[in-house]
Amino acid sequence: MDRPRITIFDTTLRDGEQSPGCSMNVQEKLHLAQQLDCLGVDVIEAGFPIASDGDFEAVQRIAATVRRPVIAGLARACKGDVDRAWQALQGAARPRIHVFLATSDIHLQHKLRITREQCLEQAREAVRHAKSVFAKSVCADVEFSPEDATRTDVRFLCQVVEAVIAAGATTVNIPDTVGYTMPEEYGQLIRALRENVAGIDKVTISTHCHNDLGLAVANSLAGVQNGARQVECTINGIGERAGNAALEEVVMAMRVRGDRYPYETGVASEQLYASSQALAEITRVPVQPNKAITGRNAFAHEAGIHQDGMLKNALTYEIMTPQSVGVPDSRLVLGKHSGRHALALRCEQLGHQFERRELDEVYRRFVVLADRIKKVQDSHLLELIEDVVRGGVGLGATAADPGRKFPPATATLPLPRAATAAAGAGSSESRAAQPTGSDSQAEGRPGGTPPTNWFSGAPFAEHHAEQEDYLWGV
Ligand SMILES: [Zn+2]
Repeated sequence: MDRPRITIFDTTLRDGEQSPGCSMNVQEKLHLAQQLDCLGVDVIEAGFPIASDGDFEAVQRIAATVRRPVIAGLARACKGDVDRAWQALQGAARPRIHVFLATSDIHLQHKLRITREQCLEQAREAVRHAKSVFAKSVCADVEFSPEDATRTDVRFLCQVVEAVIAAGATTVNIPDTVGYTMPEEYGQLIRALRENVAGIDKVTISTHCHNDLGLAVANSLAGVQNGARQVECTINGIGERAGNAALEEVVMAMRVRGDRYPYETGVASEQLYASSQALAEITRVPVQPNKAITGRNAFAHEAGIHQDGMLKNALTYEIMTPQSVGVPDSRLVLGKHSGRHALALRCEQLGHQFERRELDEVYRRFVVLADRIKKVQDSHLLELIEDVVRGGVGLGATAADPGRKFPPATATLPLPRAATAAAGAGSSESRAAQPTGSDSQAEGRPGGTPPTNWFSGAPFAEHHAEQEDYLWGV
């Protein structure tokens, strides 16, 4: 069966760059554009050329350097903007001018102070002008966006879309500018356009959804299900306010659930993680840890029953492999919810195989320690193993030893947050070391008064009892 091909339009460098703290200089934009090219996106919206000289230069340099994807430049619906966009894009192998004009009554009355008739005329004229700058080019690629489309009267929206198609637009984008729509509603809107606009079958319908209600990806997918064939999105979902639909989520939803979303994209999914990391590095805006697909916890399993299942067969808790999105491997974080199986494997990887009784003792101490420091690093585990192997140091003496690697227990736990001991099947030390980059973000235990030593059994007896199932049952 032929699966419809969805055009992935990346606007990280335009809409994404508009988010607070995410502005990039020309060099950084060029670097990211090259990564987006590796990722296989179809269109890169490189900037808004009239907005600033920096934006102009970035679009121009990306157009000259990145030759495979279409390079788009944004323009308001007026001659000056379109001309400036064209100037920046002239050197592109495949240029696209993206014209936008608000169409909702709220925007027309309060922002633009024009009537619907004036809006219709301005949209038509701007698209005509954009077409004309391509001169005799056979593929004059012009996209039109009725800004705030989802709050626009549907009949008027249909009129505008019909007018811009007649004027030569080749892609019609339907922005949910304020992140207000709901999946079913957005799907119906796309369907209404397909049913009511003359010439709509000759153009590509596009989605552009914002995430103010956390529905940007769901709305985009609803659009695709109803006939949209281009999705506008950004790496890590960055963008105005709550951001845009996250590219990696849209792509992987279609890939993992191809049964429900039988569509293809040209994205090389194994480049997703690298793209996310590149953006985070450039903007210094970290990816939220639990971010779908690219967050550092997206493939981490801590709960004992999950770890146990993962080690037996990754399919138990993994709907896609970390490798499929370019994460080196899944990480089993050793924490207080970890089970014996994961701990035993990690010990083996550290060169220690234990008899059942010894492992029981290591595990007992591990649970107590993990309760204090949340994530147990290899160095911690090694020290603990040493204690057990030596026949157990007196509980009180342990933390008092000044030569120990453990921080003294009286500290307020400014402990490495990234103390993630990897314990995935077939893992290597390099993998264990790889994700533990930043040690700077301390993770304290607010308000808690740590006991005087790490292995002080008494205060944790209760907790230990709660873990008995795990201690003996797995
Ligand atoms: Zn936007």
